[in-house]
Amino acid sequence: MSDIQIVNAPAGVEGTGFFATSLDKAVGLARANSLWPLPFATSCCGIEFMATMASHYDLARFGAERLSFSPRQADLLMVMGTIAKKMGPVLRQVYLQMAEPRWVLAMGACASSGGIFDSYSVLQGIDEIIPVDVYIPGCPPRPEAVIDGFMRIQDLVKTESTRRRNTPEYQKLLASYGIQ
Ligand code: SF4
Repeated sequence: MSDIQIVNAPAGVEGTGFFATSLDKAVGLARANSLWPLPFATSCCGIEFMATMASHYDLARFGAERLSFSPRQADLLMVMGTIAKKMGPVLRQVYLQMAEPRWVLAMGACASSGGIFDSYSVLQGIDEIIPVDVYIPGCPPRPEAVIDGFMRIQDLVKTESTRRRNTPEYQKLLASYGIQ
């Protein structure tokens, strides 16, 4: 028996010799299982991410082994670590350089809320400067939690309409961050 499993087909109509689904679902399935993460790691949570990428947890099982260090070739921004206010504009610039569709994962207490660093120099959550799709709690989150957060992103990607990025709601969200 083979240990290899393939992802489930999206919801559709099937019968002998045929399968039909909507374009949105087919695109979502492909995108969700071929995400290219950009790891924006500034401190200890980055170490936990390294464990998530290594052989024991192996994020490659989710189709995400191809890390991108160029924002233009990435569609998932993974922010892990303390983000100093001075670093904020750099993070925002990275986000702006990513093409749509793009998703953002805030890993750990620091990226999500500033964590224990309630100080004058630390950004109290990256959602002060860019929109965030999924937050992973913990200090640091274990690799299992990182994988769970990644799977929540996959859920979003699978179900997102290919037209969502053109909707007034999405434009309004970006506008609230001063992004066109
Ligand atoms: S959440 Fe905890 S482990 Fe992660 S970067 Fe902050 S202090 Fe480090």
